[in-house]
Amino acid sequence: MTALKAEQLADVTSPVLKGEDYRRTARAWLEASLPLSYRADHPDYRAPSLDQLKSWEAALYRAGLVGMVWPKAYGGYGRNLNDHLIVAQEIGRLAMPESVNSIGKELAGPIIQAVATEEQKLRYLPAILEMREIWCQGFSEPEAGSDLASLRTRATRIADGWRISGQKIWTSGAAKSQRCLLLARTGPVEERHRGMALFAVKMDTPGISVRTIRSIDDKESFCEVFFDEVEVPDADALGAPDEGWNAAIRVLGIERATNRMYRAWRFENEMRHLVNACRSDPALAALLDDGHYRKRLAACAVDVEVLKGHVETAVQALVAGEQIGSRGSLMKLHWSEAHQRFAALGLELLSQAPANANATIRQAQQRFNGIYMHARAETIYAGTTEVQLGIIADRILKLPKGK
Ligand SMILES: Cc1cc2nc3c(=O)[nH]c(=O)nc-3n(C[C@H](O)[C@H](O)[C@H](O)COP(=O)(O)OP(=O)(O)OC[C@H]3O[C@@H](n4cnc5c(N)ncnc54)[C@H](O)[C@@H]3O)c2cc1C
Repeated sequence: MTALKAEQLADVTSPVLKGEDYRRTARAWLEASLPLSYRADHPDYRAPSLDQLKSWEAALYRAGLVGMVWPKAYGGYGRNLNDHLIVAQEIGRLAMPESVNSIGKELAGPIIQAVATEEQKLRYLPAILEMREIWCQGFSEPEAGSDLASLRTRATRIADGWRISGQKIWTSGAAKSQRCLLLARTGPVEERHRGMALFAVKMDTPGISVRTIRSIDDKESFCEVFFDEVEVPDADALGAPDEGWNAAIRVLGIERATNRMYRAWRFENEMRHLVNACRSDPALAALLDDGHYRKRLAACAVDVEVLKGHVETAVQALVAGEQIGSRGSLMKLHWSEAHQRFAALGLELLSQAPANANATIRQAQQRFNGIYMHARAETIYAGTTEVQLGIIADRILKLPKGK
């Protein structure tokens, strides 16, 4: 807590709060509660530890700002998607740390609600919201990324469960996760989409080993996960044994459309940070007057507004009971490409600061180094740019198959 104590703030969980009142209350809570040292645009910023992030996210949940649309029976707040959008907008406008359990909250949670048994929902969902269980996503394999249907990790039937052997790769956060949303093959590889099942595997099960991979940004979030005759009880199999592919496609649809809805507003926060930082240094302030940079920044501002429109339109469609389907590819393509262009522009501007730049510039440089590195991955994960273009050509434009 910074300026105010929690008990002095209006209760965001109150069901009587609607629309702009809800927004104001959520904003007040966030402004008062997010430590300055967690804000990547504040001079006191220090990257929080895993334990600090878990406590922060548990506090967000208790305040009613996580699990808004999940049913009350499973620990959620039973609100509608419009309220979720309001909170996403408020979270986006602050330079808040990324969730360490976004796979649990935004991918596993929704798919569990769609396909799991009542007993499973009660067992998994509150643990995600309360940050007792962090989830990772075990889909990609060394020979199965874009072409996920060729995955080889095998689940074989045994008494009361399954025995799983194989390897996953690029599994973000596996080393700190308690559960893995695992897609494995139950039928022959030749059957491709058929014969796959989804599991909620406990990461401390004997036979699982995790090896971290150091990435370009010097982090070790990515992992290889090896499964050596891992026994998973039926109680942790999600949905029907041969319906894994359909469930996985739903996961990917969520990942492309409504996952991290706050992105457009965070992008705007980053733009504000960049421009304000440049204004603090005479050499960079002069670049803001340069027609070349003015045009590129203006184009980014247009991108931000288009992205906001994409998210708001998607939310309205979902509230009206429609599916997002392949339109999710339009959104994924646009945000990832636009954000990558912006990240490169940010780095280009900030790298022209003098060697003895002020603390504001040095901090912006540190933030934009991270944004730039991460943006490299944004056109790869959740389906590469080329894959999204293929989906748009096939399913939206219905063009003939290219050679
Ligand atoms: C930051 C990050 C986090 C990730 N986290 C996870 C995670 O938590 N869990 C998980 O399971 N996976 C994760 N992934 C993996 C990600 O899903 C894959 O990297 C992605 O699906 C691409 O697969 P691939 O790396 O095998 O590349 P490939 O599929 O081998 O693609 C290589 C190149 O070929 C192109 N290509 C492939 N197929 C086509 C096609 N049909 N048409 C045109 N071009 C094509 C691609 O666009 C790409 O340029 C993560 C990846 C990144 C970068």
